[in-house]
Amino acid sequence: MPIDPDRAEEVYLDYNATTPLRHEALEAMLDALRSVGNASSVHAAGRDAASRVELARQQLARLLNCAPGELIFTSGATEANNLALRAGYSSGGILVTTAVEHPAILETARAITVDGPGTLVELPVDRDGAVELAPLEAACRQGKVAVVSAMLANNETGVLTDLEPIIKLAHEAGALVHTDGTQYVGRLPVDLSELDVDLVSLSAHKFGGPQGVGALFVRRGASVPHRPLLIGGGQERGWRAGTLNVPGIAGLGAAAEAARIHLHNESTRVTALRGVLEEGLTSRLPDCHINGVRSPRLPGVTSVTLPGLPADALLAAMPEIAASDGSACASGAPTPSHVLLAMGLSRPDADSTLRFSLGYATTERDVERAIEATVRAVGEVRTAMAATSEPASSP
Ligand code: PMP
Repeated sequence: MPIDPDRAEEVYLDYNATTPLRHEALEAMLDALRSVGNASSVHAAGRDAASRVELARQQLARLLNCAPGELIFTSGATEANNLALRAGYSSGGILVTTAVEHPAILETARAITVDGPGTLVELPVDRDGAVELAPLEAACRQGKVAVVSAMLANNETGVLTDLEPIIKLAHEAGALVHTDGTQYVGRLPVDLSELDVDLVSLSAHKFGGPQGVGALFVRRGASVPHRPLLIGGGQERGWRAGTLNVPGIAGLGAAAEAARIHLHNESTRVTALRGVLEEGLTSRLPDCHINGVRSPRLPGVTSVTLPGLPADALLAAMPEIAASDGSACASGAPTPSHVLLAMGLSRPDADSTLRFSLGYATTERDVERAIEATVRAVGEVRTAMAATSEPASSP
């Protein structure tokens, strides 16, 4: 749907699914789309395309505080996650991840660890979404852990992972460490000179860039086996063949720069808006609870369970609000959220959970309207459910 602040009937609160394109990204993409040139060609047009790509690499490197040469452009975080795990696990061993990862990690991990029982360890989380380390310690004692992958921030609850102890255990055991930074990058500061991970995945459309473009950070000097998924023309230092998506990459770079410049202000403002949203919901709907509320979380994410009220019915009763009933990638599938189940929610509670995700363009009015709409929807759904559960009156 068009993003137009004047169309007051629409409130977009699904930034974890995708974000509105930042105007800086749009300008950079339009400029690149108007130009001709394959970034691998040596003539002037090719060099112009290559210079847009290298500018974007520098812009992203500044956001992450890494070297531009440590970044490989991909089609998004799904590809970056596949590349990281398949390369890191190419010699087998044990792969450790967490039970609350995005399917791009969990399904890849399950697909590649086919050597037998014990080759995949999925770390459980507690009620607050914090990762339990004991199974990682046990796996590390066996001495065969090849790669450990734990996300920086969860897409459904916004809960942040405390990566430091995971990195320490994994590196002491000689394993590579990958993190899925998709929901975190561009929303909270990342300093890869401090955070000692070997591989990081990210996606432009979560921080105001276009869909279908992302990147994988591969730390220089880390012993990551060179196992590209796509083989061909040798682009991206042989890590990712295929003609580069110059407009998409230019949009990613411009969005990364805008996110870096505004990160402090945006994260402070969005955290305050989330506070208003949660205060409004919990004060007016005393039955509801916020998942992961005791943990450090992303600035803009609220996962709220409204016991007894199916999320799909609630969303249908508040059509002016674009929110989600779990992760966007999983919606449409009849299975309950594996993240909420891993945190100990019952299946009915998982099915009664809404996710609001706020971002850089969210306003206070958006939040007020979301509170009003949710309160109204709760009333309507309760009334409808009471009407259908009333026993048929006797003749
Ligand atoms: N990881 C996480 C945590 C995500 O939230 C998403 C997108 N929902 C992905 C990976 C996949 O990203 P992409 O859309 O770029 O493939």
